[in-house]
Amino acid sequence: MFKRVISFVICFVIFLTTVLISFSESADRFSDVKKDAWYYVPVNFVYENGYMQGISDNEFGINNAMTRAMFAVVAARIADADVDPNRNDHFTDVPADSWYTGAVNWAFENGIVAGYENGEFRPSQKITREQAAVLLRALGDYLDYDVTYEDPTLLQLYHDRNQISPYALSSICWALDYGLIAGNDDCALMPKKTATRAETAAIIYRFSLYRDTPPAVPPKIFKVTFADYDGKVLYTDNVAEGKYARYRAEDPKKAADKDYRYSFIGWDKPLGPIESDTVFIAQYSSERISYKVTFLNWDGAELYNAYVLSGENAVYKGKTPEKPEDEKNMYTFIGWDKSMNAIYCDTVFTARFKAEPKPVSSRVIDPTKPMIAITFDDGPGSGSGPILDTLEQYNCVATFFDVGTNVERNPSIIRREVEVGCEIGNHSYNHPNFRNLSANQIKEQINKTNNAFINILGYAPELMRPPYGATNDNINSIINMKIILWSIDTLDWKSRNADSVYKIAVGEAYDGAIILMHSLYPSTAAAVKRIVPALISRGYQLVTVSELAYYKGYQMINGQRYFHFKNK
Ligand code: ZN
Repeated sequence: MFKRVISFVICFVIFLTTVLISFSESADRFSDVKKDAWYYVPVNFVYENGYMQGISDNEFGINNAMTRAMFAVVAARIADADVDPNRNDHFTDVPADSWYTGAVNWAFENGIVAGYENGEFRPSQKITREQAAVLLRALGDYLDYDVTYEDPTLLQLYHDRNQISPYALSSICWALDYGLIAGNDDCALMPKKTATRAETAAIIYRFSLYRDTPPAVPPKIFKVTFADYDGKVLYTDNVAEGKYARYRAEDPKKAADKDYRYSFIGWDKPLGPIESDTVFIAQYSSERISYKVTFLNWDGAELYNAYVLSGENAVYKGKTPEKPEDEKNMYTFIGWDKSMNAIYCDTVFTARFKAEPKPVSSRVIDPTKPMIAITFDDGPGSGSGPILDTLEQYNCVATFFDVGTNVERNPSIIRREVEVGCEIGNHSYNHPNFRNLSANQIKEQINKTNNAFINILGYAPELMRPPYGATNDNINSIINMKIILWSIDTLDWKSRNADSVYKIAVGEAYDGAIILMHSLYPSTAAAVKRIVPALISRGYQLVTVSELAYYKGYQMINGQRYFHFKNK
């Protein structure tokens, strides 16, 4: 009982204060209501007319939410309704003595607000912007305003119109047509956003002008389409005549091709004022792509890098790559692992080196003493292994003029020839007589054999011996390698007799001679077993052809023939 008396006294004091303030002061008393704000006039209007009060003596609560109970109270005031303050005939969640009790009862009974299931009203639930339109229209209906006009034209201008709840759609159209609500600068209605007290004041203010203001004539509305460079539609919108189009989708992208990279820079024409249905096409700037080229040494160390425009050639501007010699080989830089022409992607080049076997360290050549180069043609063949065994046994070397087809079949013998310290030479691909071949056929014989060596050893020989020794000045220039013939022919292919081969080789030997034998015959291999120690015991050093030329002071030239290297 005591509580009720207190609350009655408080209510009475608030009522008196409200009445006094209503007639004596404007919205200027609220610290959160600025004179130059868009809501100043509406807040002043609702306050002076007693439709809405502040949330405290000096605060209107412009950004506070509007609740269902607040709306019922405001509606009752606008309708100047005769409200029984404590009456609640319908709702379980409306207390008997609240500030909104009678107003809720009245608004429900007059069809302005609805309830929820199970007898709930949910008085403190916040109202959304679309709910505000629905409630206001119901109030208009109660006040005998004409609320039937709901032209959907204006709705087309709002790009979030699809978010409006179906039950609120006609009320939104009505509210738009009468200018009670408007979207923001971005043409968004935000129907599900909570309505603030300032917004509510604004629609109540406009609502008061409603009867005197006929609906605006809907503007002409045009369709604007934003399309990508390939015609693909990116976004469409409706824009009122004379207004500006806005693009509200992700920026268009155009994929780079092999030459150009593209950046979106805008649309092909200004976005407004719009005077007709309009298609805007995305515009791109193009920038020639450059690719990074990196040059690496054999060990992965970077030697040089640069950027090259797409389609142009890479150029190496670093210092010549070097690879230190190891136990077996000396290395010479011979170029890069791929073509530097027409670069269309980031590219890494790796230096390639030719490996030249180092002379076997225990073999020492005395340039003042006699030396001979023994040579074996047509291999690798069945004599190759035993011949190499003999050479190895006496720590000396020979030169093998191998045939391309046999090279391809016997890579391990080729590797062993080099390991023993011997020199390798080109003896054509399949042993034709070069006098019967065209220039191109000769070149093919040379190149295929050199490639067979490269595949196994990583480098090509420098020496060439034409099959049958058949050559002439023209053929020499086509071969364009150092052409090695011989000065002592053992005729081992003819005799197939080890004694005979031995007699010729040892009997005719002289300082600077080149001796011809073949890798194919066991009789030759047997002869070599005796020839090698015999020549050594007579004071000859057995060397490769290139060593013989070098120590005898010859500078060999490509396309030249050599039969022997006598002292000059
Ligand atoms: Zn031959």
